[in-house]
Amino acid sequence: ALLDGHRVTGHRSKSTHPDVSERTLIAVKPDGVQRRLVGQIIQRFEQRGFKLVGLKMLQVSEDLLSQHYCQLRMKPFYPSLQQYMTSGPVVAMVWEGHNVVQTSRMMVGHTNPVEAQTGTVRGDFGIHVSRNVVHASDSLEGAKREIQLWFQGKELLNWDCCDQTITCE
Ligand code: ADP
Repeated sequence: ALLDGHRVTGHRSKSTHPDVSERTLIAVKPDGVQRRLVGQIIQRFEQRGFKLVGLKMLQVSEDLLSQHYCQLRMKPFYPSLQQYMTSGPVVAMVWEGHNVVQTSRMMVGHTNPVEAQTGTVRGDFGIHVSRNVVHASDSLEGAKREIQLWFQGKELLNWDCCDQTITCE
C-alpha cells in the first residue's frame, strides 16, 4: 500500500487523520514583523509539532479588522487598535494539529504582556497590551470564523510529511 501512487502524491482525505484536523489562525502583528520576530514565532509552532497549512503577508484593511475584532468595535481602545493593526504588514498563518487552538493560546500567553508568563510569546517579547506581537484564535468557533475571514479555501494546503510517504525505488 505504501507504494500506491495515491499515497505518494499526498492527497489523502482529511478523514484519514480525524484527530489532527483542528486548525487555528495565528497572526504576527505589525510590531512583531517590524521587530523581526516572524521566524522565532514560526519556529515555536513548528517545534511544538504543529503543521503549517496557510501563510501570507498582508496589509490589513480597516474592513477586515472590524470584522475580525467585531466584538471589540465599541471598546474605547478600538481606534488605537485599528491604527496599530493597520500600521504595517501582518503575517497570517493557519496551523493544524491536535488541540491546536487551546495549545496556541497557552503558547501565546495572556493578552497583557505584563501578566504573560515567561516562555510564552507575549511573555518573552511583548512590550505593552497595545503592542502584544501576535494574535491567536481563542476558540474553535472563533478559529473557524477567522480562518474563513482571512484565507480563501484555495490558500490552505493539505500535505503529508515525507517520513510517512517515502518509498524505496
Ligand atoms: P487576545 O488578543 O488575547 O485574544 P482580546 O481579544 O481581548 O485579546 O483583544 C484583542 C487585542 O486588542 C489584544 O490582543 C490587544 O492587541 C488589543 N487590546 C486588548 N485590550 C486592550 C487595551 N486595554 N488597550 C489597548 N489594546 C488592547
